[in-house]
This record gives sequence, structure tokens and C-alpha cells, in this order.
Amino acid sequence: MDRILASPGATLEVLDQFGIRARKKYGQNFLIDANIVRGIIDTAEITREDCVLEIGPGIGTMTQLLSGAAGQVVCVEIDESLKPVLAYTLSDCPNVTILWQDVLKTDLQALRDQYAPGRRMKVVANLPYYVTTPILMMLLEQQDLFESITVMVQKEVADRICAGPGSKEYGAISLAVQYYAQPEAAIRVAPSCFIPHPNVDSTVLYLKAYEQPPVDADKELMFALIRAAFNQRRKTLANAVSHGLQAPSGPYTRQQVENALKSMNLPETARGETLGLEQYAALSKYLGYDTLNPV
Ligand code: SAM
Repeated sequence: MDRILASPGATLEVLDQFGIRARKKYGQNFLIDANIVRGIIDTAEITREDCVLEIGPGIGTMTQLLSGAAGQVVCVEIDESLKPVLAYTLSDCPNVTILWQDVLKTDLQALRDQYAPGRRMKVVANLPYYVTTPILMMLLEQQDLFESITVMVQKEVADRICAGPGSKEYGAISLAVQYYAQPEAAIRVAPSCFIPHPNVDSTVLYLKAYEQPPVDADKELMFALIRAAFNQRRKTLANAVSHGLQAPSGPYTRQQVENALKSMNLPETARGETLGLEQYAALSKYLGYDTLNPV
């Protein structure tokens, strides 16, 4: 196909030509705004040196432009009914490979080793919103494979990911992402930029993956503490942790947690939502030390 799909007219024409309806169960909202698509590719700083992983190419709207900007594009798409459409829309894109599978069941290490051996890929996607968090966490937990992740997500999810201590959006997902990457809300996107319109605002989120975690922590224990703290947001951290942590990460007495907080110059009554990543990391080390050296 020799013209770009990122417009309402071209998208409707292709959907009509192939008798395609956006499938809600796969979170399909197709981008129709060329400025937004270019904005995503600019945010991701795609160059000819890059091998890009695109999750969910849909009818190929972003893939067309990625193909022009990157050295190579590898797409993972779950919906095989889109095969004839992509064969048509990407017929002039020889550097694009499509793998027809569920990204959550994809061996990303093997994919990287096959298409970009010894290098880190860049992930770009207009994510299906029903699986945003599992996809993001899967990518981040293998952050050695990826240099950056540039993704369209619900605005509310982007706000939670970028939030810091003390704000109402701050939660376990903020800390989970911030342990692996530095997040930035790059572009605000209105529902009118998609067909069909989603019923929420969206944000292009840019995650620059750290090569090393930004804090020195007992990782398993730190994430167990974070889960316990935010599962019971209204309790003090000492109460939430002493009630919420089971073996193998706990248990700890309220007194042990209060002592650790005191050693960190924090009030005994501190709540989980007031601590930042560094403080959770420090707490994991204090409590980890307590376990090794019981009183
Ligand atoms: N990239 C296209 C665009 O911007 O117009 C489509 C984006 S649409 C929001 C999400 C895409 O992800 C759809 O093509 C959908 O079929 C695909 N998808 C949904 N769940 C998936 C999964 N688990 N693995 C791979 N692709 C998936």
C-alpha cells in the first residue's frame, strides 16, 4: 500500500475493504492521527540502527511509519484475522516481520536473540488496554532486553506510573515501574485520535530502562513490603507489614518495623504512601538484616 493509513478516511476504507470490525476483546482502537503516530516514533527516538518490537500492530498504521524509520521491525499480533489486511498494508515494508501470537506467551529472550542478537531492542506500542499492566511488567522484568519502552496507555495508568510519594495516584505500580525505568508522560492523546473512540483519555508513556536498578535493595522483600503497604493503604506501614507479610518474606512484628522506621529517621506511624523507592529499599535492608540476626 503506497499511502499512509493514519487518517480517518484511509482507515475506514481499509476496514471496509477487508470487512474488519475492531474487536473489543483484543482492545482494538486503531490510531487515525498521523501527528500522534509521528510523535510516538519521535519520542522513542527510532533510527535506522534500531530493531523495534511492536506489540499489536493492528492494521499496520504505526508499523508503516516504523518501517520507514527503523532498521528492522518485529511485530507480535494475537488476532490472526488481520493477516490479509497486514499483507496488504505492509506490502511495501520488507523490513517488517510479524509473529502471530500472544505477546504474554512469547519468549522475548529468544525473540531478541533471533532478531537483534547482542543488542537491546526498543519497544513501541499502542497497547491493548485490557492487558496493559501484565505486558508492561513482563517487559520491565526483562529490561536487559530493551533500551526503552514507548507505549500508549490510559491516561489514568500513566498518571499512576509517574506518581511520587504523597499523591493520591501513587501506588504499588508506580514503585514497580520506577524500579526498572524512568517514566515520562510524553504526549496526551484524545479519544478522537482512534477508531473506535475509547471512552478514556490516553497518554504516550516513555520508559527509559535502567541498566542497573537505581536502588540497592533486597528485591523480593522490598516488593513484598510494597504490596503489603498498598494492600492496606489506610493502616500505618508497621501495622500493614506486621499483618500482611507471610513466609517466606516475613513475618515481622510491628515493633521490628517501627524500629526500622526509627533507624531511618521516619515516624513510627508513617504510612506506606509517604515512602519513596529509596526508603522501601532501605527498609528491605533493615528488615532483611533483622531476619538474619533475630533478637
Ligand atoms: N497498533 C495499532 C494501532 O495503533 O492502530 C493497533 C493498536 S490496538 C489498541 C491493540 C492491538 O494489540 C490490536 O491489534 C490487538 O489485536 C493486539 N493485541 C491484543 N492483545 C494482544 C496480545 N495479548 N498479544 C499481542 N497482541 C495483542
